Amino acid sequence: MSRTLTEPARELPVIAQPDVLVVGGGPAGVAAACAAARAGARTLLIESHGCLGGTLTIVTLGGLCGIYAVIDDERLGRVIGGLCLELEDRLAAVDAIAPPRRHGKIVGVPYDSVRLKGVLDEMVRAHGVEVMLHTSAAAVQTDGRRVTAVITESKAGRAAIVPRVVIDCSGDGDVAARAGAGFALGDGHETQYGSTMFRLGGVDTARAGELSRPEIRECLERAVADGYPLPRTATGVHVNPIEGVVHLNVTKLGRADGSPFNLTDPGDLTEAEQVGREQVRMYETVFRQYVPGFARARVIDIGARVGVRETRLIRGEQTLSQAQVRACEKPADRIACSSWPLENHGRGRGTVWEFLPDGQWYGIPWGCLVVEGFDNLLVAGRNLSAEHAAQASVRVAGPCLAMGEAAGIGAVASLALEGGTRAVDVDALQANLQREGAILAPAWAEA
Ligand SMILES: Cc1cc2nc3c(=O)[nH]c(=O)nc-3n(C[C@H](O)[C@H](O)[C@H](O)COP(=O)(O)OP(=O)(O)OC[C@H]3O[C@@H](n4cnc5c(N)ncnc54)[C@H](O)[C@@H]3O)c2cc1C
Repeated sequence: MSRTLTEPARELPVIAQPDVLVVGGGPAGVAAACAAARAGARTLLIESHGCLGGTLTIVTLGGLCGIYAVIDDERLGRVIGGLCLELEDRLAAVDAIAPPRRHGKIVGVPYDSVRLKGVLDEMVRAHGVEVMLHTSAAAVQTDGRRVTAVITESKAGRAAIVPRVVIDCSGDGDVAARAGAGFALGDGHETQYGSTMFRLGGVDTARAGELSRPEIRECLERAVADGYPLPRTATGVHVNPIEGVVHLNVTKLGRADGSPFNLTDPGDLTEAEQVGREQVRMYETVFRQYVPGFARARVIDIGARVGVRETRLIRGEQTLSQAQVRACEKPADRIACSSWPLENHGRGRGTVWEFLPDGQWYGIPWGCLVVEGFDNLLVAGRNLSAEHAAQASVRVAGPCLAMGEAAGIGAVASLALEGGTRAVDVDALQANLQREGAILAPAWAEA
């Protein structure tokens, strides 16, 4: 057994006693906190980093995905409403969002990840959410089926928060795992690979923006044939709202033996960060040399941390299965919809896309947010209860915002119920969501 030591017991200050504590300020956490505060709960949102937005701001994305479905060759249909609409309006007010951009059968909404930081500060303030940045959930105390305290770690040391209900939006299920909830790490430790995201400036975006994914792949495969050890050649060019700037999601972070890192392990995280930056340097060289429009390109930004697609999938009262996603099931107890394909960043240089039929979508049941074995603990976002292949579809920004909004409303409803989160009346939750503009049956599907 490796060496251990015992941490002495100590008194901790109780720094907050909110009705709802949201851990993690990514899209799911921001939406959860805004929804809970809007419903009248005293809501505290804690976030490890110095800004909100999670992957959207800290890692940076090509676009907000999963908001629109492709109905046919010409038409797109909205799948996500509610607080996502408010976020888009707020981004538009500061010229930080562009119209939806279609790449074959997927649609992304380009946004400015820098301006998004300020937009999210304003959004949580407007809803009355209390926010503590640079504060991490480090430990959890439980009493039977209840989380009684979340212990935080910050520059001020350790402290306790005593909430009535907790929503774990940490992406990695940190709170739920520390509370003792069950979880899977991908598919038998085979998680989706992470990526370091980066932006290139000095790009002829008119030219680069016209390139199809197969055309880019052909250029990158030529580089591989010439001896560049690119781990991935399947990608698209995401033209940014900022002139001459494109966003690239093309790196693939694996161990030397080709297996994916465990991105909850600090040793693996460290190596992944370093490998990611090496890959960015190589892709800059390759894009300049092989891809039209990039001759004068230069890296202008690298995500502040490695992008993590998948770690712990927390076990809920229900688990979204790959069969449900593929069959486009629309369970009566759904609290959000998704039409995003199963986008699997697995082994090899490609990405495997499994598209739903045009205009099709599936529902995410409430039970996927209710942590099994607990009465006051919910999850939302990429750490929901889902099978590995189902999470590969449901994890994008749009559905994460929608899940967060549902979790926030559900958490507040649970406060008055003896059975807590398990006893939430899903009909009432759905009515509440729809009053707030959330979509539970996309308009073209109703027609
Ligand atoms: C490389 C990559 C590319 C992607 N590309 C796209 C794309 O183009 N479009 C798209 O829509 N989606 C994309 N996604 C998916 C999407 O961005 C994420 O799945 C989504 O952001 C998940 O949202 P979330 O709120 O669940 O978690 P996250 O965005 O991961 O946010 C979790 C937050 O919790 C905080 N946190 C973690 N642990 C703690 C703790 N213990 N205490 C306090 N705070 C904590 C983190 O700092 C973070 O801010 C991509 C993902 C990756 C990794």
